[in-house]
Amino acid sequence: MILVLGGTAEARQLADALVANGIAVTSSLAGRVTNPRLPRGEVRIGGFGGATGLVEWMRVHDVKCVVDATHPFAARISEHAAAACARTGTPLLALIRPGWSERPGDRWFWVGEPAAAAEAIPALGSRVLLTTGRQGLAAFAGLDQTWFLIRCVDRPEPPLPPRHELLLDRGPYTLAGELGLIDAHRIDLVVTKDSGGEHTVAKLDAARQRGLPVVIVRRPARPEAQRVATVAAALDWARFHAG
Ligand code: NAP
Repeated sequence: MILVLGGTAEARQLADALVANGIAVTSSLAGRVTNPRLPRGEVRIGGFGGATGLVEWMRVHDVKCVVDATHPFAARISEHAAAACARTGTPLLALIRPGWSERPGDRWFWVGEPAAAAEAIPALGSRVLLTTGRQGLAAFAGLDQTWFLIRCVDRPEPPLPPRHELLLDRGPYTLAGELGLIDAHRIDLVVTKDSGGEHTVAKLDAARQRGLPVVIVRRPARPEAQRVATVAAALDWARFHAG
């Protein structure tokens, strides 16, 4: 059985493709989102209990190989996957969508973490479209002169910045939709993280079109592992290892 660590569109697509190829797969989700989109095949939900719990789970379920298709910002589970696979001698593949890169007309400011993004905001704008995700919003809570349109999938926990509106949405987003949002809310700055992928890239195209600056949080470091960038390449690897 192949274990796919999921929580992304790519993980879902890979599980669907494995099922279509007659390969047994279990997708694992963290359980953060209330109403997750589920892939085909078996699904388990919830943490494993660290790398040790993951090792135990892999042994009990006779896992042949692991594809870590988690979000580029989900650093902890990737560390655990690398440790568990090293300990058990299980082949591991990381399926990581490529990050975004600047294009002519962009004004991007790269930062290392949400706290640095918060520090950069006052000099760049006062009405912010904030799409860094539900976790880490506390970093922006002290900015009481800035208005935020906070967009995330599920309702975030406080602390949040005092002046904000919440928009619960999960994409995919269109250029027309993002331009409409920017105009309707008089957004003058976009703050996001380098998630990569097509589903959420429209905000960057919209920012370019409106000449807005973008503060973008860099991806965290990942453990050493064989990597691919596409679902098709991950499927080839999994077929090979599934025998
Ligand atoms: P994280 O910080 O790397 O992981 C925290 C803990 O959550 C892990 O130690 C693990 O608990 C559990 N966990 C995470 N992903 C899991 C999975 N796929 N299956 C089982 N347990 C998992 O992760 P995160 O940033 O909170 O992200 C959680 C999930 O949301 C991931 O599956 C990720 O793909 C998805 N996601 C994250 C982001 C983001 O921006 N971070 C965005 C979109 C989707 P134990 O130690 O108990 O095993």
